[in-house]
Parts: sequence; C-alpha cells; structure tokens
Amino acid sequence: MMQPLIFFTILFSFIATGCNNSPAKQSNSVNMDSNKKVHPVFSKTDTAKVDISNEEWKRSCRQMYNIAREKGTERAFTGKFWDHKEGGTYYCAACGNPLFNSNGKFDSNCGWPSFFEPISKSSIIYAPDNTYGMKRTEVMCGKCRSHLGHVFDDGPPPTGLRYCINSVILDFEKAAEAKEKFDKKQ
Ligand SMILES: [Zn+2]
Repeated sequence: MMQPLIFFTILFSFIATGCNNSPAKQSNSVNMDSNKKVHPVFSKTDTAKVDISNEEWKRSCRQMYNIAREKGTERAFTGKFWDHKEGGTYYCAACGNPLFNSNGKFDSNCGWPSFFEPISKSSIIYAPDNTYGMKRTEVMCGKCRSHLGHVFDDGPPPTGLRYCINSVILDFEKAAEAKEKFDKKQ
C-alpha cells in the first residue's frame, strides 16, 4: 500500500502541473511539449480525418477532455495563450491539425486567445450552438472534431470575425522552431 505522504506528493504535483507530464520541465515560458502526443493519432503532417476513441480520451488529460469532448470552457484569463504574442502556428492539441497562425491572432481582451481567421477553410468545422439560451456558432477541429470554442461576428477586419478559442486545446509551435525542423529535413 502506498504511503500517504507519497500519495499526496504525487497528487499535489499532478494538480500543480495540470496536463504537463514532466513537472521538472515547468518554467515561466509557455511549455511547448505539454500536450503533444496525448493521442496516438497526433500528427502535424498527416492531414487525414481521425477518430479519437473514448478509450483514448479517458487516458488523456482531464482538462482537455472537458473542453474537447464535453464542450467545456476554460476560465477567462487562465489559459496559457490568451496573452501570447510570439510568431508561430497554433495546432489542435488533440490531433496536430494546424488551426491558426499568429498573424491571424489579435488582442481581444476577452480572456481567451482570439483569431480573426483560421489557417484554411478546412481547418475548422462550424455548428449552431443554442445552449444556455444563446445563439452561438461552435467551432470544432476540422480533423478530429474536438470542440475548440465559438466564433462571433464582432472581430476586426478583414473578416470581422472573432474565433474565441480555449488555450487547452491549442498546441503552439514557434515559427523559428518550425523553420529549424524544416531546414534539417533539407
Ligand atoms: Zn483535432
């Protein structure tokens, strides 16, 4: 039987780090590896549509499950990307689908990362959402159908749209890191 002290230490480190599997790597900068490879289907190069089974979801991070599958919403100003300004690409954290570029991101001050356009039309799937007595449009990942957030029509030009997205379901790669990987392949 596990010693209570050890149990609470493990429990506490889990709570303190959330989805991050490596507490030792925790730092003040945005952790790029926290959500990667949570599912076997995670791939930034394979664009085929994927189905993540409920069994796989149960093994992944509880917070991501709540957002992606139960259509939850993270608390405003708590996610890691609402005020994130680095140049790069935002991927679906569940499947690796490229969703948004940093040059499509803007400062909405609403507490969630906000974008005025996705990377491509096929990045996103749209669905009407009439829950909570509101008429909203839900946005989902075009590859794995994970819930991402909602899109509103009060965004800046040129689209006039505001894609209001949960940080938990985003995985960010800096432009510089992506370039480095690309150069290595040449
Ligand atoms: Zn996805």
